[in-house]
Amino acid sequence: MENKDRLNRIEIIEGDITKLKVDAIVNAANSSLLGGGGVDGAIHRAAGPKLLEECRTLGGCSTGEAKITKGYNLPAKFVIHTVGPVWRGGNNNEDKLLSNCYKNSLSLAEKHNIKTIAFPAISTGVYGFPLDRATEIAISTVLKFLENSKTINKVIFVCFGEAAYKTYRDKIEKLYK
Ligand code: ADP
Repeated sequence: MENKDRLNRIEIIEGDITKLKVDAIVNAANSSLLGGGGVDGAIHRAAGPKLLEECRTLGGCSTGEAKITKGYNLPAKFVIHTVGPVWRGGNNNEDKLLSNCYKNSLSLAEKHNIKTIAFPAISTGVYGFPLDRATEIAISTVLKFLENSKTINKVIFVCFGEAAYKTYRDKIEKLYK
């Protein structure tokens, strides 16, 4: 598939992921799946206590893997919870694990016939993954997945703040346009 066709299915926006009316938003969770700070905290606050109730039944989640719940009070129908790697200098399989987060979230989305999905910048907050490097992994992994995906027609990268937005825009311009 041409780069252009896949790029047409990618959108970069600045904003709050909890506000999006998409089929699924992705949560950068921790391995307990019992809530935390950052985007995880925002998602649980907006979804309401039923989300935590469902999360308690899931038995946690390993780094790079993904699990799905309903969205409850969120405008999004589903939440896909994935656990990003903690940055430990870059030689501890961080790149591969981060790529797995995107891949496994998208595979799970396909299984649930999800057509529109929004991602935050996984691992780039408290987990300390360098934004530039994480952005490259996020974009390249999603583009590769879209090559073979017929069901997913929109992937939105939600950037929290202008710096992240600019990084995503620059990367996509530089690498693919
Ligand atoms: P991690 O532990 O995976 O690093 P964080 O939640 O600390 O997760 O940060 C992941 C990214 O999510 C950061 O780039 C942060 O700025 C961003 N973020 C925080 N709140 C929101 C939100 N409401 N919507 C979208 N992105 C958010």
